[in-house]
Amino acid sequence: MRNREVLISGAGVAGPLLAYWLGRHGLRPTIVERAPALREGGYKVDVRGTAIEVLKRTGVYCAARARDTGMRQVTYVTKSGGKVAAVDADLLMGRRGDDIEVMRGDLVRILADAAAPVTEFIYGDAIASISSSGEVTFESGLSRRFDVIVGADGLHSATRRMAGLDAPLRHLGAYLSFATMPNDLRLDREEVFWAVPGRMAFLYSTGPDDPAKVGLVFASPELPRAEVTRERVAAEFAGDGWQIPRILESMADDFFVDSLSQVDLPRWSAGRVVLLGDAAFCPSPASGQGTSTALCGAYVLARALARHEDTAAAFAEYEGTLRPYTDRNIEVGRKMAGQMVPGGRFSIAMRNYAMRTLHLNPWNKQIIASATKPIFVAANALKLPAEDQPVAA
Ligand SMILES: Cc1cc2nc3c(=O)[nH]c(=O)nc-3n(C[C@H](O)[C@H](O)[C@H](O)COP(=O)(O)OP(=O)(O)OC[C@H]3O[C@@H](n4cnc5c(N)ncnc54)[C@H](O)[C@@H]3O)c2cc1C
Repeated sequence: MRNREVLISGAGVAGPLLAYWLGRHGLRPTIVERAPALREGGYKVDVRGTAIEVLKRTGVYCAARARDTGMRQVTYVTKSGGKVAAVDADLLMGRRGDDIEVMRGDLVRILADAAAPVTEFIYGDAIASISSSGEVTFESGLSRRFDVIVGADGLHSATRRMAGLDAPLRHLGAYLSFATMPNDLRLDREEVFWAVPGRMAFLYSTGPDDPAKVGLVFASPELPRAEVTRERVAAEFAGDGWQIPRILESMADDFFVDSLSQVDLPRWSAGRVVLLGDAAFCPSPASGQGTSTALCGAYVLARALARHEDTAAAFAEYEGTLRPYTDRNIEVGRKMAGQMVPGGRFSIAMRNYAMRTLHLNPWNKQIIASATKPIFVAANALKLPAEDQPVAA
């Protein structure tokens, strides 16, 4: 039992945290990552509520907190770039207490370093097939047997497909593209939101000398995958003002575009295979909770595998413990998606008016806090068992 071999597909957020805890519980984790090295790039992510307790118990909270983006404010601008209002970033994003916001790549690096002493990492390879007896063939041709196979391979999980657990993604009515560009506006721990009916852009940087990250969101019914391209994004924003022409012209190599969508499966496991993180329960970037649910899921799954030699019992405990929490976060993501894509001119004008006059309202902090309360409640909707007390960070 102590030597149980666990293969984890994906060295993202969930995979390394799971490996760390499996190692700590005496199991033997191997991570296979399709990319040739750890994928350290990306955007900023929030970690909130129970997931903060997971980071503390893992002993990496201080390291993660030291990498906090320190975002100061969110500035709303009109369609031609005139300033509407600036709002405190933590307040607007619903971060409270010990919650943090870090670059995804920084968090992945911290977690992978924590897992390294107890984990075998295989980069540049992927699972090609899994037999019912746990025999795994890799794309490189290598073949090995594992007791448990975990699909932590993200939104478009191949493990999910191989295990017969696939279901259509829930499209939330928009596409989201991301890229890095020069920080022409010299944004300093500031994020700028621009919106017109059906389209929005956000631009932020962690410091005046750091590059800027840009996000473009456009409303659209589900499109054939071949049509979801850089050209399509450029066409959607063609003719727009403010920084949009500059953004479109300087979208760099790390550009990606994907549908704003959720994964909400009836089952997370089949035979020896179990899914984790976005592969199993993706609340979507609209919820700001995908990282937190992935972290909590990894912690709960490691504990269940350590407690039950019988994999079916372990998977049942994992799903039974976690599902009420992930359901709640998926629900938040569905509700928040509407706010990510602006509606008509009237609703944008109303929002701008509310933001412009917010400072006049003595209850302004309470108003924003009540708007983000569903995120806070969902982020804290999992109580961890008392064991595995925090270790010194
Ligand atoms: C633009 C954007 C903004 C976001 N903002 C936030 C936010 O503010 N707050 C928040 O909590 N979350 C946010 N998220 C979501 C968050 O990034 C994810 O929910 C989280 O990273 C999920 O972790 P994961 O480990 O399940 O998957 P990932 O972190 O996506 O990792 C999956 C890993 O699997 C690897 N992989 C893929 N296929 C294979 C394969 N076949 N074989 C082997 N390896 C494979 C990938 O290379 C990757 O390393 C955002 C996401 C996006 C796209």
